[in-house]
Amino acid sequence: MTQETGGFAALGIHPNVLTAITAVGYEEPSPIQAQAIPQILAGHDLIGQAQTGTGKTAAFALPILSLIDPAKREPQALILAPTRELALQVATAFESYSVNLPGVKVVAVYGGAPMGPQLKALRQGAQIVVATPGRLCDHLRRDEKLLNTVRHLVLDEADEMLKLGFMDDLDVIFEALPESRQSVLFSATLPASIRGIAEKHLREPKHIKIAAKTQTVAKIEQAYLMVHADQKAAAVLRLLEVEDFDALIAFVRTKQATLDLAAALEAKGYKAAALNGDIAQNQRERVIEFLKDGRLDIVVATDVAARGIDVPRITHVFNVDMPYDPESYVHRIGRTGRAGREGRALLLATPRERRMLQVIERVTGQKVTEVKLPDSKQVLDSRIRRLTKALQPLLATAEASHGELLDRLTTELGCEPRALAAALLVKATNGQALNLAEIEREQPLVPNSGPQRERRDREGGDHERRERRAPQPLAEGRVRCRTALGARDGIAAKNLLGAILNEGGLARDAIGRIQIRETFSLVELPEEGLDRLLGKLKDTRVAGKSLKLRRYRED
Ligand code: AMP
Repeated sequence: MTQETGGFAALGIHPNVLTAITAVGYEEPSPIQAQAIPQILAGHDLIGQAQTGTGKTAAFALPILSLIDPAKREPQALILAPTRELALQVATAFESYSVNLPGVKVVAVYGGAPMGPQLKALRQGAQIVVATPGRLCDHLRRDEKLLNTVRHLVLDEADEMLKLGFMDDLDVIFEALPESRQSVLFSATLPASIRGIAEKHLREPKHIKIAAKTQTVAKIEQAYLMVHADQKAAAVLRLLEVEDFDALIAFVRTKQATLDLAAALEAKGYKAAALNGDIAQNQRERVIEFLKDGRLDIVVATDVAARGIDVPRITHVFNVDMPYDPESYVHRIGRTGRAGREGRALLLATPRERRMLQVIERVTGQKVTEVKLPDSKQVLDSRIRRLTKALQPLLATAEASHGELLDRLTTELGCEPRALAAALLVKATNGQALNLAEIEREQPLVPNSGPQRERRDREGGDHERRERRAPQPLAEGRVRCRTALGARDGIAAKNLLGAILNEGGLARDAIGRIQIRETFSLVELPEEGLDRLLGKLKDTRVAGKSLKLRRYRED
């Protein structure tokens, strides 16, 4: 065991789970893990206030895997997640942490997929069931004893679950669970509705909240880029093209990620190295020495390995993976802006981590501005700028020292000076692409597709299903209509209202409730004349996007 996994070992998790974590490359528990794991292992009920990005999944998965009995082939732990996407993510996490626990099976139960295979996996004795509430209720209708053997319940992203209207389903599920069980609730926020659930269904729960003290981060310009996880390395390469950095430290979460990113950077010619907890102390010190004296320009590090780095040359910090909490963010970006210099901090956030971004802004009291991925033209301009900068100082003396050689070469090669200069440029730039077409070929543009992709993931299955399951009562003569524009598109109720009033020519009281969800919105409209109204609104745009309002069928 390395010194760093000692942090996990001290928490008391099962040795076979520990070896799996080591393999995944975690070095030390995140704050929420350090607090939650011992409590869950001790059998307490728990309320954890934490959002995506804090390491909350492992905070409940590791102790639960340590507590279940692989010999018993029956559901022992139930994890409820609001969306299909999260359920799959949680199930995958359980699978990776249980690789060294023979006999442990995980099943994901979610809407939008056939019930048969899920049922089969349940019958074959999966001990861990990760489910979205709607689909689980469907299974319960077929087999009401399904959850009789569950001893651990986790409600993940409980606030999201309520926002999506799963309250009724939750009641059905609580009803089907044994009284004597451990219940753990994770939620980013704790509104009254969540506290109500906790009061009703949890027993003397322990509370965990990662305290967020306001911090000051002077002189550091902060920005973020929204990007999907699998595009991070490509995004880093693009950003480096246009960022004017001296030395840079890039933070990632796992040892493996330090190696992968450092290798990708080296392959592109950067002087980069990895720094992680597996690297011997004297070697780590060398890496930092090299960063100080310029033999290295980029270090890709985990938090553990980067502790105490004080290198005044560092102008940039890239948070390639989100830190677990705002304190850690502040600590990381404090690696730049040293000795009163200015620094720049860039965070790569995935769409699901948006909330963490807001927390960081709140805690640091500063705006983190969004940047877009540089396009090929920006990359080209930046390459040319660098070349110009490198050539500029040579102009004064080069002709005197190399003019004669130039004449001789043009004669020997029988070419014009322009042709020779072009050949020398190719050589001087090591064949680097210096026109748009070549840059596009060399670096296929990484689309900013994160949010769209997530929208697609999230809109499947349960979101729509649950609207059908628990519709809000409609006023007489009204129907519900749906648009694919939601909060994520910057839509607010007043925008929809304004557009429908103006373009549809309706009176204000003809429009009923407007519900803005993350990825879609619902509007109650008069049934009479609906087709005509929708026709009038056919080309309407809101916030620059096509409204495309359709009747929403709830049966
Ligand atoms: P979560 O907040 O559960 O969505 O986790 C966010 C990410 O952090 C996931 O990609 C995890 O694999 C990763 N992660 C969780 N705990 C640790 C840890 N102790 N060390 C490194 N990475 C972690």
